[in-house]
Amino acid sequence: MSDSDTHASLAAAIDANWDRQVEWLKTLVGFPSLRGEEAPCQDWIAREFSARGWAVDRYTLADVQMDSLPGHSPVMDTDYRKAVQVVASVRAPHPQGRSLILQGHVDVVPTGPVEMWSSPPFAPAIRDGRLHGRGANDMKSGVCAMVFALDGLRTAGLTPAGDVYVQTVTEEESTGNGALSTLARGYRADACLIPEPTERRILRGTVGVMWFRLRLRGRPVHVSQSETGTNAILSAFGLIEALRGHTRELNERVRQDPWFGRIPNPIKFNPGKIAGGDWASSTPAWCEVDCRIAVLPGMSLASFREELTGIVMAAARQDPFLADNPPEIIWNGFQADDYVLEPGSAFEDTVRAAHRRVAGDEPGEAILPAVTDCRFYGRYYGIPSLCYGASGTGSHGFDEAVDLASIKQVTLTIASVIADWCGTRPA
Ligand code: ZN
Repeated sequence: MSDSDTHASLAAAIDANWDRQVEWLKTLVGFPSLRGEEAPCQDWIAREFSARGWAVDRYTLADVQMDSLPGHSPVMDTDYRKAVQVVASVRAPHPQGRSLILQGHVDVVPTGPVEMWSSPPFAPAIRDGRLHGRGANDMKSGVCAMVFALDGLRTAGLTPAGDVYVQTVTEEESTGNGALSTLARGYRADACLIPEPTERRILRGTVGVMWFRLRLRGRPVHVSQSETGTNAILSAFGLIEALRGHTRELNERVRQDPWFGRIPNPIKFNPGKIAGGDWASSTPAWCEVDCRIAVLPGMSLASFREELTGIVMAAARQDPFLADNPPEIIWNGFQADDYVLEPGSAFEDTVRAAHRRVAGDEPGEAILPAVTDCRFYGRYYGIPSLCYGASGTGSHGFDEAVDLASIKQVTLTIASVIADWCGTRPA
């Protein structure tokens, strides 16, 4: 078949499977696959993969030794026996083409108060060509696109001439350890595509990200004598303010960076979760704040941690109680380096060509103040890795939704990437 024949038959195949694809996505979004609760979703996916005749490797993060590998992030209060990962191998007998990893995460972030959603977050609903639900955009849209790209090839009577690995991982939203585990387990390929919802742009760069917990103590007294005690919650405010000030300074320094200097204020700091105190009429004896901050590009994680520690401890010295009872900083979650996809790789050319065939124009590029799993494949294992996926809104917010037409285009683009990168044979 000529290239244009292949493209036309893939387009027809994806069209023919479309209703089934939308139903599949609805089922996938219906799983409340919050952190630690992904197993039923992953088990369903594993069965779906097996039904396609793919060899399925289902394992948990407790099965994989990876503490000492680059990119590993420490965790606490998380049971990795529940963190189920799935890798399906779609092997070409006598492979001739290049191999490819298609990877998507199925973990989703919490919904927040559900009464603020227009419809329940785990009861997917279609309105105006958009599918609504937590994870619909980020990134079950991409998981469904990569699976139905392969289904499209099969419907078109084709099979990849190189090995394809379909990976559904967890922990993308907190550590990246799911992605790391696939590499620790030995999976490799000539390229990796992660269909995160990039609005059909090539993701050129992502910042590094760190999570940490500030743990403070206070001296509790009856509130009627509050002058004689201290208040751990109010003390935490002082540390948060110092970190906000430091963030402004980091955003000044990043202006020099050739990639990340192109977007305004890429270093975001977020005190994202707070707990503390025991009683409304006692000054709080403890406070814990879970924070997320972007890492200054080009800086090692160790030096960045050292700098942050200096900022927190300097602020603590201004607080009469904390000066003698310094807070703890617990590195708990993301310890993620930045990642830049250097222009000019053969794989990027392949994705660009596929986008042009489907969309008729050149894809845009994005540099994001956020993190993806690409860093593991691209930065630590030398596997050209990029994100390219659907369009939607509300990731991590209320009323998350994905544009279904964009998923269809991305599905065809991925099918075209597989055909071009791996080559095809008659099924
Ligand atoms: Zn995502």
